[in-house]
Amino acid sequence: MGGTGAERDDGAGLGRRAVRDGLADVVPGRRPRTLPVSGGGFDVPEADAFTRTYWDAAAGGRLLVRHCAACDRAHHYPREFCPHCWSEDVSWRPASGRATLYTWSVVHRNDLPPFGGRVPYAAAVVDLAEGPRMMTEVIGCEEAALRIGMELEVSFRAGIPVFRPVSPARG
Ligand SMILES: [Zn+2]
Repeated sequence: MGGTGAERDDGAGLGRRAVRDGLADVVPGRRPRTLPVSGGGFDVPEADAFTRTYWDAAAGGRLLVRHCAACDRAHHYPREFCPHCWSEDVSWRPASGRATLYTWSVVHRNDLPPFGGRVPYAAAVVDLAEGPRMMTEVIGCEEAALRIGMELEVSFRAGIPVFRPVSPARG
């Protein structure tokens, strides 16, 4: 990827708590935590006052990114200041929902609910058309058909943005 100020931590924030809690169950020396008794499991986001706008939009089938008015660049995961120029003049903006596949890993085993029932699945990193790189999952595509750079479009699974190949009819 070209340009300056490349983001190296995109996507790490939204799922951080779930990952941390999950690690507690598999990392030796840490006390196992109780699995959530309500809700769907580790894939359910925990919205806070800042990210609620993002998750509310996702629940309605819309993908948002943060856009900086000072440098005209977008970023993701959402932050209250621009990671490219540090301006606080950032706001939510609808994303096109288009992306290309940057990389992926097909997961064949996952003991954390509800992922175990989904294997194999393609954990992926995609480049949004607006620029930011985003961690997600590619659905609706055979493993052998996954290709770097393939055109994807956002889809929503229970309010969670995932991506699927652009249908030829609409692509
Ligand atoms: Zn900026």
